[in-house]
Amino acid sequence: RAKENGRNNYQLFQSAMNKQVTERLALEHDLRKALEREEFVVYYQPQVNSSTGIVFGLEALVRWQHPTRGMVSPAEFIPLAEESGLIVPIGEWVLRKSCEQVKSWQRVFPNLRAAVNLSARQFQSDDLVETVARVLRETELDAHCLDLEITESTTMHNVDRAISTMHGLKQLGIQISLDDFGTGYSSLSYLKHFPIHMLKIDRSFVRDITTDEDDASIVASVIAMAHSLNLHVIAEGVETEEQLGYLMERGCDQMQGYLFSPPLPVEKCDELLHFINKTRVGSTG
Ligand code: C2E
Ligand code: MG
Ligand code: MG
Ligand code: MG
Repeated sequence: RAKENGRNNYQLFQSAMNKQVTERLALEHDLRKALEREEFVVYYQPQVNSSTGIVFGLEALVRWQHPTRGMVSPAEFIPLAEESGLIVPIGEWVLRKSCEQVKSWQRVFPNLRAAVNLSARQFQSDDLVETVARVLRETELDAHCLDLEITESTTMHNVDRAISTMHGLKQLGIQISLDDFGTGYSSLSYLKHFPIHMLKIDRSFVRDITTDEDDASIVASVIAMAHSLNLHVIAEGVETEEQLGYLMERGCDQMQGYLFSPPLPVEKCDELLHFINKTRVGSTG
């Protein structure tokens, strides 16, 4: 009896596994076609200077407009793209698209910056620096207006190589931000060796900042530490006035979150930028 049950469970397990595998393969198959079918869309989320309220930059966040599944979030397909290597051409597409877009917005808002996420695989690819340089040349975006966001875990794989890649990017004039800061396992002692410009405090710490004392003190110390290393700090996922208040009080330089704006498609972002007084977009503040 037990044996039979075990067998049934095994079969159930197997068919569930098969279903999962089939599902994944189907998604990966679609992902392969998605670039040529132009199914990706870039949304832009404003990054705001805390003290002046100026929108200094826009973070590019990719979405997949799947023909039958609807809008697929990056949390679902980026890991798959990463494993299959498809993230490299997808990431280059996102980079080119957002450089083009921000370059075009700069006709109205001259100092507007673009922030683009790099996945581990992209960051570790041999020709990253060359690729970024080429995209900048082709889109005519000034390298000084581009921020590349990498996560701590991306750098941990091979720290020395990561540092040299960061230097290569920095030499182009690009600024590097450390995304999702606090969620990785990087040793703080590496931080001072990284030629980075900014720390992005992960949303998970910001969320409970006004209710959880531990999160509040973690955030306060990250801000203080960043400043002592001459790094700028941006808080992700700012949703309430209370969070904003706490962050301002602690001297957090920049903010991003639904309180200001969710990520927006080009037309909506364009409306928003024009709605805000021109002098309050893209100034160096
Ligand atoms: P991320 O780079 O840390 O981006 C921040 C995420 O938080 C975005 O989710 C954004 O929509 C969301 N967010 C922003 N403000 C708020 C807020 O106030 N509340 C809440 N609850 N969420 C907020 P999204 O767009 O789903 O992207 C998720 C992740 O996918 C990104 O995290 C990034 O790691 C990755 N990703 C997105 N686009 C790209 C891309 O072009 N290339 C690569 N490699 N990764 C990307
Ligand atoms: Mg990011
Ligand atoms: Mg982040
Ligand atoms: Mg995050």
